[in-house]
Amino acid sequence: LLTLAIETSCDETSVAVIKNGREILSNIISSQIDIHKKFGGVVPEIASRKHIESINNIIKEALNTAGVGFKDIDLVGVTRGPGLVGALLVGISSAKALAYGLDIPLIGVNHIEGHICANYLTHERLEPPFTCLVVSGGHSYLLYAKGYVDYELVGRTRDDAAGEAFDKVARALGIPYPGGPVIDELSKRGNPHAIDFPRIFLEDNSYDFSFSGLKTAVLNYLNGEKQNKREIIVEDVAASFQQAVLDVLVDKTFRLARENDSKKIVLAGGVAANKGLRALVEEKGKKEGIEIFYPSKILCTDNAAMIGSAAYFNYINGKESDLGFTVEPNLGLN
Ligand code: ATP
Ligand code: MG
Ligand code: FE
Repeated sequence: LLTLAIETSCDETSVAVIKNGREILSNIISSQIDIHKKFGGVVPEIASRKHIESINNIIKEALNTAGVGFKDIDLVGVTRGPGLVGALLVGISSAKALAYGLDIPLIGVNHIEGHICANYLTHERLEPPFTCLVVSGGHSYLLYAKGYVDYELVGRTRDDAAGEAFDKVARALGIPYPGGPVIDELSKRGNPHAIDFPRIFLEDNSYDFSFSGLKTAVLNYLNGEKQNKREIIVEDVAASFQQAVLDVLVDKTFRLARENDSKKIVLAGGVAANKGLRALVEEKGKKEGIEIFYPSKILCTDNAAMIGSAAYFNYINGKESDLGFTVEPNLGLN
């Protein structure tokens, strides 16, 4: 079964062709990052316009790269939310036109479910159930995946998302958007114990997250050092901040795995590309006999391949095709 998938929820225009939810035949990702960089973040109106300009060419390129034509496609998948309204609408309109014109089913996909399904593309034999930490630019979820399309949401952020915290701290350090990957690189050369930033665990048994206090602590530290004319060692700030985020993420994820007697932990979302997070989780996984999974780097951040995988698993699990859906900018996981 061949799925053509479209992702336009934010600033990547992406189209992929996926075989049976597991195999990538093509995954074209056109990033607008250089356009948005000078504004310090994604400008919604510019994002929509750029999607409109490029979507048709990227669909063609995805088909060409996969070596298939429209007639070979069995299913269309598209991100229906969460994301930017105008940006999502471009992908949804194209997907509806394709599905209608080709007379094939269409599945509207939850973007966050896509991030989780990126793991099925990287790990051929990965199957639910598993414990899953989703840490992206706009969301942080801790959940138990009971089936391919069946999630028990256990925790979420009460303020900033993990990726958002990385980007905001980066910005305060003068690093352009998106700063997460740069903080990751700087951290390798810094001392994670140099500055004692707070670890926000919330109530004893809570699986929720909170990162805005940590962000404020970093900003206060930077201001204090500047006022006292002390030298700021950027690598140490990055490493100490990153360690504070990771300590909480990893602690709660393993606690949930233990509670569910789950032997698999799966990471998803842009922050799953973080080398420090990957290393920490793998080290702890070895000690506790838990198998660790995360998507290949390119599949951690936004791409259509993950949407194709999610569309496939929804389709074969009986989710009905429907041309009537529309954008859901604030779509939750359940
Ligand atoms: P959402 O998926 O919640 O709608 P999004 O699509 O913007 O948001 P993603 O594409 O999943 O987010 O990921 C982008 C985020 O991941 C950014 O915040 C970016 O800084 C962060 N990120 C990417 N690579 C790394 C890294 N190596 N270390 C830390 N953060 C990273
Ligand atoms: Mg992006
Ligand atoms: Fe995303």
